[in-house]
Order: sequence, then C-alpha cells, then structure tokens
Amino acid sequence: MKERGGNPTGMSPAEPALRIFMRRLREIMADPSDGQSRLDKIVHLIAGLMVAEVCSIYLKRQDGSLELFATEGLNPGAVHNTFMKRGEGLVGRCAELAVTINEPDAQSHPAFSYRPETGEEVYHSFLAVPILRGGDVLGVLTVQNKTHKEYLDEDVEVLQTTAMVLAEHLVSGSVAGVNSGAEFSRSVGHVVRGQPLSDGLALGHVVLHEPRVVVTELTSNDPEEEQRRLEAAVEELKSSIDEMLEQGDLASAGEHREVLETYRMFAHDRGWLKRMNDAIRKGMTAQAAVERVQNDTRARMLRQSDAFWRDRLKDLDELSDRLLRILAGRPRSHAMAVQLPHDTILVARAMGPADLLDYDRSKIRGLVIEDSGGSSHVAIVAKALGIAAVGEARGVVERVDQGNPIIVDADSGEVHIRPTGEVIQAYGDKARFRARRQRKYRALRDKPTVSKDGQGIGLHINAGLLMDMPNLAASGAEGVGLFRTELQFMVSATMPRMERQTQMYREIVTEAKGKPVVFRTLDVGGDKALPYLRQPEEENPALGWRAIRLALDRPGLLRTQVRALLRATPGEDLRLLLPMVTTVGEVDMARAMIEREQELLRRRNLAAPKRVLVGAMIEVPSLLFELDSFMPRLDFLSVGSNDLLQYLFAADRNNTRVASRYDPLSVASLRALLTIVEAARRHGRPLSLCGEMAGRPLEAMALLGLGFRTISMAPASIGPVKSMILSLDVEALGSWLVEKVRTAEGNLRAELKRWAETNGVDI
Ligand code: PEP
Ligand code: MG
Repeated sequence: MKERGGNPTGMSPAEPALRIFMRRLREIMADPSDGQSRLDKIVHLIAGLMVAEVCSIYLKRQDGSLELFATEGLNPGAVHNTFMKRGEGLVGRCAELAVTINEPDAQSHPAFSYRPETGEEVYHSFLAVPILRGGDVLGVLTVQNKTHKEYLDEDVEVLQTTAMVLAEHLVSGSVAGVNSGAEFSRSVGHVVRGQPLSDGLALGHVVLHEPRVVVTELTSNDPEEEQRRLEAAVEELKSSIDEMLEQGDLASAGEHREVLETYRMFAHDRGWLKRMNDAIRKGMTAQAAVERVQNDTRARMLRQSDAFWRDRLKDLDELSDRLLRILAGRPRSHAMAVQLPHDTILVARAMGPADLLDYDRSKIRGLVIEDSGGSSHVAIVAKALGIAAVGEARGVVERVDQGNPIIVDADSGEVHIRPTGEVIQAYGDKARFRARRQRKYRALRDKPTVSKDGQGIGLHINAGLLMDMPNLAASGAEGVGLFRTELQFMVSATMPRMERQTQMYREIVTEAKGKPVVFRTLDVGGDKALPYLRQPEEENPALGWRAIRLALDRPGLLRTQVRALLRATPGEDLRLLLPMVTTVGEVDMARAMIEREQELLRRRNLAAPKRVLVGAMIEVPSLLFELDSFMPRLDFLSVGSNDLLQYLFAADRNNTRVASRYDPLSVASLRALLTIVEAARRHGRPLSLCGEMAGRPLEAMALLGLGFRTISMAPASIGPVKSMILSLDVEALGSWLVEKVRTAEGNLRAELKRWAETNGVDI
C-alpha cells in the first residue's frame, strides 16, 4: 500500500488502516442483507482499500473445484459461471498447496489458466491467499492490478486477515452458506467416513470434547495490552506443561513424557512466539494472532507428506488450541463443566479412556474421534459402555458446532453431520430395525445355547472393568471368558496397590454371582501403555517388551497381582490366564511364581482359593510348533486371535492400512486354528477363543466347524452368535469344513457364506 502513496483511508502506516477496515468488515457481516450481497460488499471494500482493480472470492465446491462467487472488476457475468478444476490455474494452485501466490506477471506464469468470460487479460499483477479454516482450504481470495508489480507484505497481511474473517463467517453459514453448494459451511450437511471402533448406531447432538474457541475480536487498539495478554497466556501454558512433567506419577512415562517435552520445546520456540507478536503489532488481538499463526501451521501441515513433521506440526496445532483456551478463560477439564444433553454424541480430536470415563455415561450415546492414535483403548472402553464409536473421522471437529444434530453409524463408519430429514428418517428406520433385532436376541437370553444337532456351546463375554459385569446377566452368557485386568490399570492415574487390587477383583467375583471369571494377568506394554510405568521407547512395540515378558522381568508387578487375586477368591476356583506366552519356559517360570504365592498364603494361614487353574493365551505362532509340550503344562487354553493373526500375517492390528488385509477365514489362519483344536483334543485340555473373530457370526460359525466348543466375545455379540448357533448343524458343518481347510487354497469366506445360506444358518 505504501507503494501507492498512502492508503485510501488516509491513515498510515498499515495498522490503523487494518483496524478501520476490520470495523467496516464487521459492519458488513452484521448487515441484514443476504450472503451474496455481503460477499459483493466485501470484494468492493477490499478493492477500495488496496487500490486494486480486481478483487474476487472463489469458494470450494464439494467436488473440490473452485467457483467464482463474487468479484469487483472482472465481468459480473462470470460470477457462478467460472469454475476452476482442482489445482487448475493460479487460483487452483493457491487452494491446492494452501500457499499465498504473489505474481507481478501472472499471465506469463506457466500455471496461468486464461478464462475469456472473466475479461482478466488486461491484469498482470496477481495476489491470492487461501481462505483457511482448521487445516481445510475453503476458498481463495484474490486481488489483481493492471501494472506489473509485486504486492507488499502489508497487502498480503490485509488479504490474509480478511480471509480469516471470511473463513469464520463461511463456516457459520452467514455468507454463502445454505444452498450455496459450498463444501465447508457449518450450516449444511456433511458425511465424514471413518473406521468403526465400537458397534452401534446413535442419533443425537454434538458435545465437543474440547470446544473450539471462536475468535470474535480480531483487532485491537492497544498492541501493548495484547502483547501482555499473550505473554501471560504463554507463561501459563509453559507452567502447566512443566507441572505435568514434574508430577511424580508421570516422571517415568515414556511416550507421554516425550509428547510433553515436545510441547515444552514448542512453547519456548522463539519463532512461534515472534510470529504471534508480529501479528499483534499489526493490530490483531492476542487470540487472532494465535489463530493466524495456527492457520499457517495447518497450511504447512497440509503440504507436509513426511509423517514425522506432520506429527510435530500437529503438536504445535494442539498447543495453539490450548493457548486459545487459556486466552478465552476456558477451564482445563471440560467434562465436569458441561451440562450434557440426554443424547450426547461426543466429538473429539483425540481422547484417552480416562477422558471418556470422566463424562456422565448415562447420557452418552455415541463417540466420534478424529485421531485413532491410542484409540484402541478408548475403543475398548466405548465397547464396554455400549457406545457407538467411530475413529479416524478426519476433519470432523472443524465441521461441527456444539449442539448440532449428528448420526454415528458404527456399522459402516459413517458420521452424518446435520443430516437432512430423509437421512434422519432412514436412520430412524435402521435404529428401529436394530431395536427389533435386539429384542429378538434378548428373547434368546435364557435359551440354552444348543445347536440344531444337539451340541452344547459355551458362550462367554470379554470384560475388563467393573461396569462390564452387569452384561453377564443381561447377555445370558455362561461366564467371563477373558477379563482384561490391564484396563483397570490403564484408567487409573497411579499404580493400584495390592489392597486396592484385591478389592477390585473381589467386587468382580461378587458381581459374577457364581459364574466363572477368567482373569488374564497384566497384558501391558506395547500399545497398552501405563502412564506411571517406566517403559523404554521401542521401535516395534507389538514385538517388544510386553505382557508376560515384562511380567517375568519385573516380577514385583505380577507377584502383587497374583497375591491380590489369590486373596480375592477364597474358597472359589481362581482361573489365571497368562498373556503373550512364546515359550514353554515362560509357563514354567510363571507357574513357579504362582505356586510360591500359594505357598506363602498357606504359611500365613490365609483363606485360599479352592483351586487355582492356570491357563495361557495362544497368541504367538511359535507355540503352534510346540503344542505337545505346551498344553500338558496348563489347565486350560484360550486363543487370542487378534494377536495370533497379527503375528501370523505380520500385519499390525492397529494399523488400518494393513489390519484388515488378511482374512481370518483364509486357509492359513483356519489351518493354524485347526492345529490348536486337534492338540487340545489330544491332551484333553479345555480350549476357548477370545479374539474379536469369536463375536462375528460367520467367523464364529467357522470356529465351531473347526471344533471349538467355547468362545468368548464382546457382550453385544452374544445374541447374534447364539442365534446363529441355534440354526446350525455343527456336525454337518465340521465334516465339510475340516476337509476343505486341509485341501483348499486361499480364502474360504465366500464358500462359508454360501454354506450358511444353503443350510439356513442365521448369520
Ligand atoms: C487377542 O489378542 O485376541 C486378545 C483377546 O487379547 P487383546 O485383544 O487384549 O490383545
Ligand atoms: Mg492379545
């Protein structure tokens, strides 16, 4: 602007001009006219301020193309008639790369795309900034002049600030919102596709786990005051991070600590602080400055393909969120502070199991998480609570507002934001259908699980928290086939001591009301991190120091747990299940330790369990080749198919790119399972399977065909699996399937499905 001898407001330098401009912009936004007229007024205002011959706004459409929505200077007839394909021309490039483009001679640029209908051939200099919101590009704002010139930093500043204001109004739908066809508006519907984490279907209203701070005050007359506010907020941010790092509980935590150290590093990053201070000096409020720099960070994130740098930028993004919350005076813990609607759907960028448990669970119907990092734990808790949950729902947080209607379809992984009447109607029907099916399953609850040909099958539930226990009676299952004790440890802020553990296990046994419970000893390490347990950083945590490996190296942990379990079950059968066993030597060591604890109990004259049965999980393929030495050492066995298949196929179960690439119904896995069934038969050992495949009717059918007679699954699966069993001739299936598994190639899913259909099995 200086280049043109002062700005048209007559005020120099740029800061006051920006403030006046902002006031005018606010007036336009508050104007009662419609969205289109507001856009027209905005381009007129910018062109005037910047002495630009052209100012235009392009907005992104659902197909990713850009549409000219308003212009001052180009042919008015081009509005809503000029479209740029994704990445096309300089405007498309600005949107695609989320970068500012400042070209003195746009027409000679190789990316220039000439549109005769606009009449732009006479304009040479070209400045375009992306309209960014939460890492998404919503459109592009441009100015053009006839002369060849490079625009000054101040010009870029004005345009970027306007783009920021525009973005907020665009998503709220106050400009070019409803019916515009624009892709981003928070007043139009949206479908986000993610990964199902916990089965179910939920219709309800959005509660943001950490509500976005909407910056409304953008400019200030008092940069010193804003700088003071920013400084104070940064200090608070730094000390909150230091506090977390100094907490005794956390002192040893591996990954948590690393994340916090990264935070601390960024909080002290002079470049980051300087950029925010620069924005304040140009007339912005502290919040607006944080958001401006955050927008830049997100734009860089968008362009970054290296996972390491993306993660670092994400940390910086989260830090900006925290800083904004401090500036807005928001409390740190939101869960306690909000009044939840009765049909709450929680929407979060990231969430741990403890965060979820902070909420009033009776009001939560669904959960949507953007990030699936660590979501497997929150997924397990969501399953236990019967909450429909979808993970990896990219961009959902930015697209919703508090209280928006939303549907979570955890069958398909779809999340419908602000659904239309028809979608609500369709989902209402689907929900009623599910409810009917649930009623049908409930009616089966007290029916014995006996197949059509008279074979009794044992159905058990998987559990992990006290709150799962009512599911035992509600599902009609025979017992708890897998109690994942680590969950109690994962949701606890400190290591539970022996007395606390004894009390927990006693409560669980009481709640089981005489039905058997298989307690799996701590399966921690790997992706199941305990915040208070020192763990070295590992290149391949799934292949690392976890479960029984960690327990044998750190015997104090296992000893305390076994002691607590022995004391919690006087006069009862105690079933102990060892996770992740790889060699028979590990069984011997664990058994010796358990026997020492039993001996100690006897010497102290304390009440002991009636029997202590020791079992092991079959989760590591090495055991398949040692089953005849392994099985006689144990009282019972349980196949952990989640891990067994991940190791068999070398496919990380938490990595969505590979997790579902290999089919549990392929002959490779069915042969492994058949080998285990035959060995258990040879050695007369009770055998169960407690991985996710047991809960899917077709897979469960295959397991019965292979010879399994006991399986354990999430409580919600008991009904569908029982219904399948009641309609199945197990003997007939077995004689067909075992032969197939021995001789066929590839995948048997399709053939199993056909067999079920031909034989009238309810899958
Ligand atoms: C399994 O691996 O199949 C299993 C049941 O254990 P988890 O899912 O807890 O690893
Ligand atoms: Mg496992």
